[in-house]
Amino acid sequence: MRLDKFVCKSTALTKAQVIAAIARGDVTVNGEVITDIATQVHENNGITLLGEQLYPRPFRYLLMHKPSQTICSNIDEVYPSLFNYIDIERPQELHIVGRLDADTTGLVLITDDGRWSFNITSPNKLCPKVYRVQLRQPIDASAKQLFAQGIKLQGEAQLTAPAMLTIVDDKQVLLTITEGKFHQVKRMFASIGNKVVSLHRESIGSVTLDVDEGQWRYLTVDEIKALS
Ligand code: URA
Repeated sequence: MRLDKFVCKSTALTKAQVIAAIARGDVTVNGEVITDIATQVHENNGITLLGEQLYPRPFRYLLMHKPSQTICSNIDEVYPSLFNYIDIERPQELHIVGRLDADTTGLVLITDDGRWSFNITSPNKLCPKVYRVQLRQPIDASAKQLFAQGIKLQGEAQLTAPAMLTIVDDKQVLLTITEGKFHQVKRMFASIGNKVVSLHRESIGSVTLDVDEGQWRYLTVDEIKALS
């Protein structure tokens, strides 16, 4: 990790204050004053600020129930960022693990641990995400086989990875996918001539949504481990 990032993560200073402190020579790494903010450091290095040993803050892991008409971004755009619903320190350090569209509701995981989120979003890790999908047209049971074989999405060379379709009623299904391509669920149904009317993510791996819309909570240690 870069020295400026480490100092930001271990203190309450702003980025500008950290850069100034490093430039002034207030920071040492293993006993040596370092003034280059981009110096690579490891958390096992002895890093001090004005003689005080620094320790990185632990990573944070949250679950949130995303309302419709919010966006999975750290800033407001056409719709408000879902971070408006999260009263937490340093929200700018957090990122969303697998974004949902503005009109999609449901489970969103949020963290500042990039390695952990990669495990969840990388298609190679095969982490299942379950979506409840409301459709415009009735669905035929033969769609199960198509989704299991892989769907050709418009503009994509490769078929989607095998997905599991469970029919709830003629216009409602549960779809389990292990990838997270752009608008994937909507495009999968579009490619079989149907249209998603509403979309809600119910679970990611073994973590299921258990808070009301707009609410959030920290993940338990077991939930964090189960997704690692
Ligand atoms: N697939 C979509 O099409 N939209 C989402 O928000 C999530 C998955």
